[in-house]
Amino acid sequence: MSDLLRGRTGEWELVIGLEVHAQVIADAKLFSGAATSFGAEPNEQVSFVDAGMPGMLPVLNETCVRQAVLTGLALNAEVNLQSVFARKNYFYPDMPQGYQISQYEEPIIGEGEIIIDLPGDETRTVGIERLHLEQDAGKSVHDRHPKKSYIDLNRSGVTLMEIVSKPDMRSAEQAAAYVTKLRAILRYIGSCDGNMQEGSLRCDANVSVRRLGEALGLRCEIKNLNSIRFMRQAIEYEAARQIEIIEDGGTVDQETRLFDSAKGETRSMRSKEDAHDYRYFPDPDLLPLRLSQDYVDALKQSLPELPEAKKQRFMQAFGLSAYDASVLVAERETADYFENVAEGRDPKLAANWVISELFGRLNRGEIPLAESPVSAASLGGLIDLISDDTISGRIAKDVFTEMFDTGRAAADIVEEKGLRQVTDTGALEATVEKIMADNPDRVADYRGGNQKLVGWFMGQIMKASQGKANPQMVNELLRKKLAE
Ligand code: ADP
Ligand code: MG
Repeated sequence: MSDLLRGRTGEWELVIGLEVHAQVIADAKLFSGAATSFGAEPNEQVSFVDAGMPGMLPVLNETCVRQAVLTGLALNAEVNLQSVFARKNYFYPDMPQGYQISQYEEPIIGEGEIIIDLPGDETRTVGIERLHLEQDAGKSVHDRHPKKSYIDLNRSGVTLMEIVSKPDMRSAEQAAAYVTKLRAILRYIGSCDGNMQEGSLRCDANVSVRRLGEALGLRCEIKNLNSIRFMRQAIEYEAARQIEIIEDGGTVDQETRLFDSAKGETRSMRSKEDAHDYRYFPDPDLLPLRLSQDYVDALKQSLPELPEAKKQRFMQAFGLSAYDASVLVAERETADYFENVAEGRDPKLAANWVISELFGRLNRGEIPLAESPVSAASLGGLIDLISDDTISGRIAKDVFTEMFDTGRAAADIVEEKGLRQVTDTGALEATVEKIMADNPDRVADYRGGNQKLVGWFMGQIMKASQGKANPQMVNELLRKKLAE
């Protein structure tokens, strides 16, 4: 499928690069010991360093360095043994230092890559430009008082990893797949909780358009997208806007834009600032950060199996499709659950039940897997009843619904409700004969060449047996009798 966009004057290619801000999981801030938990009362988690008091000195938090290195390793990226913290100078009322400590020319992590999962079992490799550590700013609160604004410094100094992609994505769908995969990786290694609603993961989308084969076009940067759905909408709106401007003979202004989710539009916020506007310089309060190769190697050894490796293993060991495998590995807990169900059973059947039935119910009720009323062992029990022909796949769906609603075991429900499959040939034969006797016209029609009627007969017989007849046996019996 082509990702090209159709304009009035021809086709356009969309080019997207993403900057993701991921809040690092750590008990304390990047340069202070203040706490970082979400939902605290305003200004409860603020040290003198975070409040920019004169004479306070930043002290680097080693946990945050470790999280950044782990993340870099998980992104197959270069880890720079020397990196430098720099001051990025600008004014925000909620940034009392008057500068943000970030990394500029020498970030802790260099080039890497992410393999993203696309529909149709396709994948695509998206390059990572860099990952650097930086401080978050505080928050201005404008909606509490008609004339005053308040400032909450709880976020001030909280550690962010800014992860910058190369301009390697060509559709909103690819951008969504990138954020999804990146989020999965961060959650696997525990460096960020990936919670977009709480702002632990925020996304800036850089968008430009060009005619196929041309050089990169001028881009706009859409700031602070806090859901994948909004990001997709913003990118699509922005691409259409730029195409229209160029086709009308204008040029795109390189600027920073905001997405208005109520209107579904992007709008201009400010013209794009250049790096030199910030007067970056190495922070004189902090020494260059030097890591030893041994430190990096030890962290590399400690990495868990990552989503991509797990996906490949699920495809090879269990024969799953790329799509099913990528759905199952999206969260570590999901993958573990699936492996428990699949252990000693038909893995494709297990994957089907987990993805279609279990996830279907969980998603509809917005229930997290950890609170599923059906445990992996319990779902396995249901699959065993299908595999040994105790119940049909059709009946199993009803049993599953009951399991989900009551938390009871499959075998108990089957016994209590008498749902065992009828495999007694005599009983089945009687039902087949009755349905044939009741419908002589259709039997004649079938025998006259209308083979498709088998499906109709099957339906009638299964209905007559309340779904309990063994479908394979019925099928064989029916064909035999109809051929007589
Ligand atoms: P800045 O620091 O000004 O935001 P960068 O060079 O770091 O600029 O790029 C930021 C992001 O913009 C990167 O993710 C990069 O991939 C993306 N990008 C750069 N040029 C383009 C372009 N022409 N179209 C779309 N994205 C782009
Ligand atoms: Mg930027």
